[in-house]
Amino acid sequence: MCTLITNATLLDTDPEPRAVEGDLLIEDGRIAAVGHGLAADHVVDAGKAIVMPGLVDAHRHVWQSVLRSLDPDSTLGDYLDLVLGRLAPSFTEDDVHAANHWGALDALNSGVTTLYDWSHVPHPEAALDGLVQAGVRAVFAHPDREALARLRPPAHIALALAATGPVYGPVEEAVRDWKAARERRWHLSLHATGTGAVESLHRHGLLGPDVMVVHGNGFTDDAMKTMADAGATATVTPAVEAQMGHGAHETVRFRAHGIATGLGVDTVVTVPGDLFSVMRAALPGTPAAEVLRMATIEGARAIGLDREIGSLTPGKHADLVMIATDGPGMAPVTDPVRAVVGSAGRGDVRAVFVAGRRVETTSARARERAEQVRARLTA
Ligand SMILES: [Zn+2]
Repeated sequence: MCTLITNATLLDTDPEPRAVEGDLLIEDGRIAAVGHGLAADHVVDAGKAIVMPGLVDAHRHVWQSVLRSLDPDSTLGDYLDLVLGRLAPSFTEDDVHAANHWGALDALNSGVTTLYDWSHVPHPEAALDGLVQAGVRAVFAHPDREALARLRPPAHIALALAATGPVYGPVEEAVRDWKAARERRWHLSLHATGTGAVESLHRHGLLGPDVMVVHGNGFTDDAMKTMADAGATATVTPAVEAQMGHGAHETVRFRAHGIATGLGVDTVVTVPGDLFSVMRAALPGTPAAEVLRMATIEGARAIGLDREIGSLTPGKHADLVMIATDGPGMAPVTDPVRAVVGSAGRGDVRAVFVAGRRVETTSARARERAEQVRARLTA
């Protein structure tokens, strides 16, 4: 089936963010062409809205959707103790499914079409099913190697190993994780700040283009150079890092070292689930156009999917977000790049497409289930 999106301000991101002329043709879930003189049996009039690649959230714990705003005041230590230490182990299979379904809808509702779900909660099958039910594209990361190996995700969901070592576990465990991941071509990602992690990975020969380091606050220039030389990538979560005391985010330094750097919400326990506010948090010191790249094509590169998503390049999946330009928080729009990075919010998202198909971005039933889980967990 062919769909033509007309009357849009098309905003591409590669090689640099800019408005492009014409209409956008979708065929079999992929972008077939961008330009003039295109035709299709099904036409979508965008009503002058901005149509751009769907946003890429390169690091989020989707299961925490049911813990939204539980504690915006918590430090990293408080969060580790309460959320991971006490609440995570009490999630049932059904809780995890409800939480991941609701969390994926939260992402889609704010224009995020691809999620890197770092799922450190039991019941990975239920978590994966929640993502599938919502219809979001994803990289699903879990720390349990055996459980991960048993999963059979659909084609639009890739698997990854959510590594605990060498920061939250022994380096020997990291070595076993890396061996398993590379045998099965899983992506790898780990949380790290300060010194020691990159140095340890490098000593054990583990760094590579399939490894994404999350946060990186306080990394030395040597560690960043080591990452760059190995082709490793980074994701920063500037809103959470500012709120929870990780220290200044390292967007400018990572990118100065030539490291592909994505953006992540991380946790809605403390910050909102939309990537627009994360873009704003990343903005100081980085031009708006570069921040938009981080939220799209560069984020896609950070998670290993830049050949598939992140720009309007024909052949890529038609993962798109339509952003209205006539709202009181958006108009008047003269430069779509600056408007999206500077002013767009969740309320401006008019439609979201994954693989060319318009997806629902909320559900009363999913909300009720999320509310029930929250009530029980925090009773
Ligand atoms: Zn995290």
